[in-house]
Amino acid sequence: MSVITPHCHLLRSPKRTRHALGAAAATTTTIPKLTSTGPSLRSTWPHRFWVATGCATFLTPIAKSITISLTSNSALEPILAAVLGYALADLATGFYHWAIDNYGGPSTPLVGSQIQAFQGHHKWPWTITRREFANNLHALGRSLTFTVIPLDLVAGDNAAALSFIGVCSGCIMFSQQFHAWAHSTKRRLPPAVVALQDAGLLVSRAGHAKHHRAPFNNNYCIVSGMWNEVLDEMKVFEVLEMVVFFKLGVRPRSWSEPSSEWTEEEVEVEAEIKDPVVSKVV
Ligand SMILES: [Zn+2]
Ligand SMILES: [Zn+2]
Repeated sequence: MSVITPHCHLLRSPKRTRHALGAAAATTTTIPKLTSTGPSLRSTWPHRFWVATGCATFLTPIAKSITISLTSNSALEPILAAVLGYALADLATGFYHWAIDNYGGPSTPLVGSQIQAFQGHHKWPWTITRREFANNLHALGRSLTFTVIPLDLVAGDNAAALSFIGVCSGCIMFSQQFHAWAHSTKRRLPPAVVALQDAGLLVSRAGHAKHHRAPFNNNYCIVSGMWNEVLDEMKVFEVLEMVVFFKLGVRPRSWSEPSSEWTEEEVEVEAEIKDPVVSKVV
């Protein structure tokens, strides 16, 4: 008789260090030739097109909501709906980020390229700061275009619903920009962005850094990060991983022993910090 043995952090707490993981990875991975002008980091016209359509998709309901509110002198509900949209966007990015970090692969329909991109991000986190704007946001812009336009139509002239849809989807689309800012050094960021991070309105560098450290199973939310503490303290994702494992027999990647998919190439990161110009052509 076989015995099912889940490999979950609910059941054990592996003592893994980032340095040890980096050393393990260094023996099994090849340092990529990433350049700031290379095709994988640059924005293309299709990227810009999908970012433009995504922006139009979330800005249109916001503009419509403002117009309706001004003509009806009733702004309280749309404002509350916008706050709710902002808060739930953070929660949504947490669940989505957890799902694509842990399940599926490059061949998964619809989201395979995003799964591959996030796996690459765990190995070389700093590269997100070198991605051009549209290159970083185009996948979410395209998803938004196809999923939110029908919601805009359903909302009709309901100002609160339009406000919620616009703000929530806009925060989700720009979560990858907030994520990139969380990987940047403060001196490279506009003062307003640093102020928003320090105020807790955008995901902070310190908060997101925990996501890239062992045990690699927390801090998934990347809009404001307001849900990270409660989700991690309640072990929401670890419970979900157990449910998926016992129902479907699928292990999340976060249960795996240290491997190149989850570890950071420290050599490359150190090169980036010491000499960003040299690292462009490594
Ligand atoms: Zn991740
Ligand atoms: Zn990251």
